[in-house]
Amino acid sequence: MMDPVCGMEVKETSAYKTMYKGKMYYFCSPHCKTAFEKDPESYLKGGPRGMPHGH
Ligand SMILES: [Zn+2]
Repeated sequence: MMDPVCGMEVKETSAYKTMYKGKMYYFCSPHCKTAFEKDPESYLKGGPRGMPHGH
């Protein structure tokens, strides 16, 4: 799975995930999850982008 926010590879066992439009998305951190939930369309259309929290 790919974190749609930062593009980092994440396991499906990640504790950070959210359901959006019937699909599950996984995140590397609560920061990315929150960012996605705030503006999911932006990440789904624009693709992952670098995040300032750095990884
Ligand atoms: Zn991330």
